[in-house]
Amino acid sequence: MIDFEIPKETAELAERVRAFVTEKIVPYEKDPRLTVHGPTEDLRDELVELARKEGLLTPQAPVEYGGHGFTHLEQAVIFEAAGWSTLGPVAMNCNAPDEGNIFLLSKICTPEQIEQHLVPMIEGHTRSAFAMSEPDGAGSDPALLSTTAVLDGVDYVINGRKWLITGAEGAQTWIIMADLVDVGPTLFLCTGDTPGIVIERVMDTMDRNYVGGHSVVLFEDLRLPASAVLGEPGQAMRYAQLRLAPARLTHCMRWLGAASRAQSIAVDYAKRRTAFGKPIGEHQGVGFMLADNEIALQQARLMIWWACWTLDRGERGRHESSMVKSSVSEELYKVADRCVQVLGGIGISDETPVGMIFRDLRAFRLYDGPTEVHKFAIARRILS
Ligand SMILES: Cc1cc2nc3c(=O)[nH]c(=O)nc-3n(C[C@H](O)[C@H](O)[C@H](O)COP(=O)(O)OP(=O)(O)OC[C@H]3O[C@@H](n4cnc5c(N)ncnc54)[C@H](O)[C@@H]3O)c2cc1C
Repeated sequence: MIDFEIPKETAELAERVRAFVTEKIVPYEKDPRLTVHGPTEDLRDELVELARKEGLLTPQAPVEYGGHGFTHLEQAVIFEAAGWSTLGPVAMNCNAPDEGNIFLLSKICTPEQIEQHLVPMIEGHTRSAFAMSEPDGAGSDPALLSTTAVLDGVDYVINGRKWLITGAEGAQTWIIMADLVDVGPTLFLCTGDTPGIVIERVMDTMDRNYVGGHSVVLFEDLRLPASAVLGEPGQAMRYAQLRLAPARLTHCMRWLGAASRAQSIAVDYAKRRTAFGKPIGEHQGVGFMLADNEIALQQARLMIWWACWTLDRGERGRHESSMVKSSVSEELYKVADRCVQVLGGIGISDETPVGMIFRDLRAFRLYDGPTEVHKFAIARRILS
């Protein structure tokens, strides 16, 4: 039997999160420090301090590090509430890529790596980057990984170029995927100030809610000690999957919150704005768009909860998370598109957050696996 029972304390916490985001975080959406390359470091620090004061920082952390140790289903409720403003997850330190990186590091770090990297991240003092995608190599197909790591004496030397690396600029902790010669794809963990990490440029992209934006990065004779290996050598693809299945879902949770916000703004406008003698919401064309949104939001929520329930039962949930990610990213994008339409010309402006949510949702259809790649994997499984 599928069980979506949310514990009372979690439901209450979600209410607290919703109130915090609405009252304290939404006003920052007009802050000029929310730039085309994401919130500035300064804005992020200020927001993180607000969440810390409310006891709402890094709620997803494991219990042993002061977090709630949520089930996936509980996390869905909390993250949806945080996503009501795109800055909510930034404030609460549960945004990508840190949230997924914290999850991965909490599973495979050594005690020394925990102390140096994981604890400061959980405490909101540092940020992180996950470097996998490459201009001419790993992308949809990670097997094309072209960045290499070579053993040189007792060190590893890494060379290669990555791009679209979220939060690279200013990240203190780096997780780097490289092909360790004679062993296979391996994850390495290091600090951002290690010589050999060169941020070539921050790319101009249509989204704007990730601190540090997305960068092109060169690893130029990046020399790391043996202790920099994260987990077991040669296991990078397995670890990437371990990180990605839940991380795909957490993206869905946060963006569900944002799309619901867009819908609330569109509904409000449709009630207030009149055209041809009545509020536009009373014209069937507009009413149907809002109804389609309501249906899509609830379908997305139930799909997310279903995949969470699967993971909470101890299953890997790879197939389920692929179905959810591809469906939810496509449907929430359509929700945001209809909200833009309902708002008329103002919909494409930054007068409301709807235009920004629309652009960010367009990007979501690509990262953590483009829709086609998930469908390719789903089809392969059902045909096998
Ligand atoms: C906002 C954003 C943030 C990102 N952050 C990070 C990050 O922090 N770290 C990181 O390493 N990467 C990051 N990425 C990169 C992301 O993981 C890649 O964009 C994604 O894996 C797709 O790879 P690609 O861009 O090289 O597209 P390509 O591999 O070039 O694919 C292009 C298109 O081909 C199609 N396609 C590919 N394979 C198939 C198939 N089997 N069947 C049908 N169609 C197919 C799809 O339509 C796909 O969109 C980010 C991307 C975005 C947009």
